[in-house]
Amino acid sequence: MSCCHYYAPDSTGDTAFSIDVAAITYGAGSLREVGDYARDLGMTRVALFTDKVIGALEHLPIVRDSLGAAGINVALYDEARVEPTDDSFRAAAKFASEGNFDGYVSVGGGSVIDTAKAANLYATYPADFLTYVNAPIGGGVAVPGPIKPHIACPTTCGTGSECTGIAIFDLLEMKAKTGIVSRHLRPTRGIVDPETTRTLPRNVIAASGFDVLSHALESYTAQPFTQRDPAAWPSQRPQTQGANPWSDVGCLEALRLLGSSLEQAVTDEDDHDARANLMFAATLAGIAFGNSGCHLPHGMSYSVSGLVRDFRPDGYPDHEPIVPHGMSVIVNAPAVFRFTAEACPERHLKAAACLGADTGGAGLEDAGEVTAGRIIELMKATGVPNGIGGVGYGEADIAALTEGSFPQKRLIDNAPRDVTREQLGDLYGAALRYW
Ligand SMILES: [Zn+2]
Repeated sequence: MSCCHYYAPDSTGDTAFSIDVAAITYGAGSLREVGDYARDLGMTRVALFTDKVIGALEHLPIVRDSLGAAGINVALYDEARVEPTDDSFRAAAKFASEGNFDGYVSVGGGSVIDTAKAANLYATYPADFLTYVNAPIGGGVAVPGPIKPHIACPTTCGTGSECTGIAIFDLLEMKAKTGIVSRHLRPTRGIVDPETTRTLPRNVIAASGFDVLSHALESYTAQPFTQRDPAAWPSQRPQTQGANPWSDVGCLEALRLLGSSLEQAVTDEDDHDARANLMFAATLAGIAFGNSGCHLPHGMSYSVSGLVRDFRPDGYPDHEPIVPHGMSVIVNAPAVFRFTAEACPERHLKAAACLGADTGGAGLEDAGEVTAGRIIELMKATGVPNGIGGVGYGEADIAALTEGSFPQKRLIDNAPRDVTREQLGDLYGAALRYW
């Protein structure tokens, strides 16, 4: 079975795929170019988004000076929250609405970039907060049109948020993560400067690196776009459109870079090349999953992070418990890929080989085990928690975890196999511990 077979036409499925990408600037020192790009986009008064931690590092003055040198007026918003909530999005939207801005610049991890996307949206098209939030949790109303230009400058090598039209947050009253998805939310340009990763703590590199790994592996093994029902209008084709040949290219290269560099990037803070490789992999995977979509590890992660009790990892602000996004994803991944392998074993084997697994002699029936085994090896080597048990969950939590993630239809339906509620519960059971 060849790769092309994966995209064999299906009598009821879609027949084309659409690729939307942010413009990207990549390179050491590129943060100094933000001002020039902002001016070129016609920005004169910019809302500069960051959080308190990033705001204290050297990146922010570089961006601020660059904007100033370009003659752009800047108002700073440093209240973005790590793992944003509906409250923190609302506060950011209020700032944006009152500021009369004609452009946005975000400097930070995915949380900061997502916050700027949401603030830009609600300042441009004011509405009740749940209006644009994914159904069934929110109204699922389509974003009416383009929003203001936004330059996103990621400072962690994970989320790829600079490449996607997705903004994720915790809806506090439901203790669930959900999001707003629209191609109009995609930043106008991503400025990706690998120098920003040099000062990141080890645990932050590990969590963001595994987020990239899962973006690439999930996009590559997602259901093929040819098996998704066509959208009523081609222009409404979802970003989560399923695996496609374009996304495959980015996924495979991202997996190769991760296979060779993830462990070194985490364990050797002086290995700047390894960290730069992760940053590039994050961008490639971001372009890929922004046009194919993730599936079960991300769908399951929402309740793993949303129901957190008292897990406080090193390297993160310790005033409240948190399961960082990448950790909440990867703890599910080995169980998921053991389960999904039977749908597309060649793809699992190929991905595992890119990640550095020894696939010599492995048959199609071994695909799930080989893939899971390599992920587990990398988890152990980089000190990430051992399954959902490692971030504080036990057998008794499985029902609540399942309840929280089963409604994530956008992601669950993008898996290469159908998943019942009972099977989802079994996956959490299988994810309790791996070694
Ligand atoms: Zn992610």
